[in-house]
Amino acid sequence: DAALAVPDRQVDSVCPYCGVGCQLTYQVKDNRILYVEGRQGPANAGRLCVKGRYGFDYAHHPQRLTTPLVRREGMSKAGDFVMDPARVLEVFREASWEEALALAGGGLARIRDGHGGAALAGFGSAKGSNEEAYLFQKLVRTGFGTNNVDHCTRLCHASSVAALLEGIGSGAVSNPVMDVLRAEVIVVIGANPTVNHPVAATWIKNAVKAGARLVVMDPRRSELARHAHRYLQFKPDTDVALLNAMMHVIVGEGLVDQGFIADRTLGYEELARNVAGYSPEAMAPLCGIDAETIRYVARLYATSKASMILWGMGVSQHVHGTDNARCLIALSLMTGQIGRPGTGLHPLRGQNNVQGASDAGLIPMMLPDYQRVDNPAARARFEQAWGVALDPQPGLTVVEVMDAIDAGQVRGMYIMGENPAMSDPDANHARAALARLEHLVVQDIFLTETAYLADVILPASSFPEKNGTFTNTDRLVQLGRQAIDPPGQARQDLWIIQQMAQRLGLDWHYGSVADVFDEMRRTMPSIGGITWERLEREGAVVYPCTQEGDAGQPVVFTERFPREGGRARFVPADIIPAAERPDADYPMVLITGRQLEHWHTGSMTRRAAVLDAIEPDPVALLHPLDLERLGVQPGDTVTIASRRGEVVLYARADDGSPVGAVFVPFCYYEAAINRLTNAALDPFGKIPEFKYCAVRLTPGGTV
Ligand code: SF4
Repeated sequence: DAALAVPDRQVDSVCPYCGVGCQLTYQVKDNRILYVEGRQGPANAGRLCVKGRYGFDYAHHPQRLTTPLVRREGMSKAGDFVMDPARVLEVFREASWEEALALAGGGLARIRDGHGGAALAGFGSAKGSNEEAYLFQKLVRTGFGTNNVDHCTRLCHASSVAALLEGIGSGAVSNPVMDVLRAEVIVVIGANPTVNHPVAATWIKNAVKAGARLVVMDPRRSELARHAHRYLQFKPDTDVALLNAMMHVIVGEGLVDQGFIADRTLGYEELARNVAGYSPEAMAPLCGIDAETIRYVARLYATSKASMILWGMGVSQHVHGTDNARCLIALSLMTGQIGRPGTGLHPLRGQNNVQGASDAGLIPMMLPDYQRVDNPAARARFEQAWGVALDPQPGLTVVEVMDAIDAGQVRGMYIMGENPAMSDPDANHARAALARLEHLVVQDIFLTETAYLADVILPASSFPEKNGTFTNTDRLVQLGRQAIDPPGQARQDLWIIQQMAQRLGLDWHYGSVADVFDEMRRTMPSIGGITWERLEREGAVVYPCTQEGDAGQPVVFTERFPREGGRARFVPADIIPAAERPDADYPMVLITGRQLEHWHTGSMTRRAAVLDAIEPDPVALLHPLDLERLGVQPGDTVTIASRRGEVVLYARADDGSPVGAVFVPFCYYEAAINRLTNAALDPFGKIPEFKYCAVRLTPGGTV
C-alpha cells in the first residue's frame, strides 16, 4: 500500500512541468515514487504547486509503453484515435528493439537516400533534457542532412524570441522571476501565472504584499488580477493599440530616459514618430480601456525606480505576436527599465525545458547557442566540431512541416516526446498530414494521439527515469536526477537517439549524459563555464557563464546589449488584425490555453490520479451572460464549431472571460480544441494564432 509505505531513498531533482523550474525531492521505495517534497531551489525556495506536488504518478501508469511497437501490415492510419489499451494490439504488434530500430532508422534512411534530407523532418521536445535536445538536433542536421528540426517553442514564444533577438540580441529573459521582489511596478500582460507558472505567481503576490504595484493587462481576468493595483481588461487582439498608446503618453509627456536612449539604443526617432499616431483618446474605443487609465499606467511604469514586464502566450500567440513583443521591448528601452535589478523583460517560458531546448539548437534556423544556420562562419564552426557538412538553408517550422507533407515535400518524420496531433493548430489537418507520411517514428512514454499514427513506436523514459540538465525560464541550468528505472523494455531517450543515429550511419559514442553536456559546453559559449562537476555540486548554475568559476549572470544587459555595437534597437509596430475575425456565421472568439491541474496535451497530468480527479472532464469557460444568451446551464454540454471542426464540452461559468469569447483548455483528447484553431502564422516567429479565431456555439451535444 503506497499510502502506508515509508520511503528508503531520497533523490533531489526538478519539477517536470513548467518553466519556473522548482527543485524537489522524490521520496522513493522499491522503484516507486511515493511522494514529492519541495526543496530550497533558487526559483522556488521550497515551494511547489499542485502539479509539482501531485503530478508524479504518471510515471507508474499502467498505460506506459513498455515494448517497441510496429504498425501491423496494411493497418490504416485513418479513423479516430482509440485510447483503449486492449485495442492497441489490433493496430500495432510488439517487436524487439533490434527489429524496431532497424525498421525505424531504415525507413528514414531510405527516404533520405531516395529523396534527399529535406524529405525528412524531426520534432524534438521541450520536455526532454538539454542533452537529448542537443543530440536530437545533431541527428537531424548530420544524419538526415536538413535543418527541418523544431519543437513546441514554435507554439509558445517563437514570436517573443524573434522580437527579442531582433531588438536586444538575446531571446532569453533579462531578469529572473524573483526580481519582482525588487521591482516597484510589475506589469503582467497576456499571462496567467497563477495557473501556468503558479510558484512564480506566489512571488508576484509576495512582492505586492511588500508594496510593489501590480498592473495586470489581459482580456481574461485571472485570479492574479485580484492582487492588482490596476487591472486592464482590454479587448482581445488589441495589444498593439494599447501598448502604442502607452508609449504615446511616455513620449508626449517627456517621460523617456534620454540618456539611456542616446547611449544604448538605435531607432528611437522612428518609434516616436510611429506612436505619435496612437493617442490614448483614439485607441480607447479600440482596446476598451479609457484614455485616463492608459495615461495613468504609462506614467506609473515609466516613472518608477524599477519596473518589470512579464508576459505569456496572450502576447505571443497571435499573427501579430512579434509586434506585441516589439512594443513591450520598446516600452522598456524608452524608459530605461532594463539592465538593472527589478526591471527588464521576462517572457514566462512554458515547458520545463523550452529555454534549454531552444538554446541547444532544436529550432530550424539556429544551430546551438542561436548561431544562425545561414551564417557561414557559425556553420563552419559546427562543421568542424561535428565533422559533417551542414545544410545552409533554414529548415521548416512546426506548422510549415505539416504543409510540406501535403505538398509531398516531407515524406518521413522522427518525433520525440511531442504530440502535434493534439498541439498543432487546425489539428484535423495536422492529423491528416501525419497519417499521410510514408514513414513516421514516434518516441514517447504513452500512446499519444501522434503515436497512434506512427509506423514504429519506441518506448521511452519519463522524467524521473533519467539524468540530464534542464534550463528554466530564468536561464538556470539545473540537474534532473534519475529516481526510478524505466518500466519493461522502455529505454532512456539518449540511448534511443544514439541507436537511431547508428541506423542512419552516424558513428556516435557518448559514454554518458555528462559526455554530451561536455560537447555542448565546447560548442555553446554561453554555458562554456558550467562543468558537470559543478552542476552535481551546486544543482543549478545560471548562464551566461562563459568561464569556469564564473558566478553566472542572473541580470543581463547591465552595460551593453548583445547586438552589433552593443545597442538595442526600437522596432515600431502597427495594428494588424487577427487572421479570422468573428462574423455572422461564427460570431464568438475562441481563446485556448491551459488549466492549473493539466499540462499541455494532457498525456502526463491526465494520468496523474490527483490532478485528473480535480479536473476530469473537458470544459469550456464562458461569461454568465453568454451562458444565459445561449440558454445553457453550467454543466450542460455545448457544441463549439469553427470553419475547421467541431467539439463538444461541458460549459462552465467564468465571469473573468470577456463577453463574446469562450476559453477552452487544449488538454482533452476527447474534445481536442485544436481541431478548431486557426493555423494562420505570425510572419516573423511562425507561431500560430491560438489566442483568436471565430467560432459558433450551440447548446447540447455528446462529449
Ligand atoms: Fe512545477 Fe511549475 Fe508548479 Fe513549480 S510552479 S511545481 S515548476 S509546475
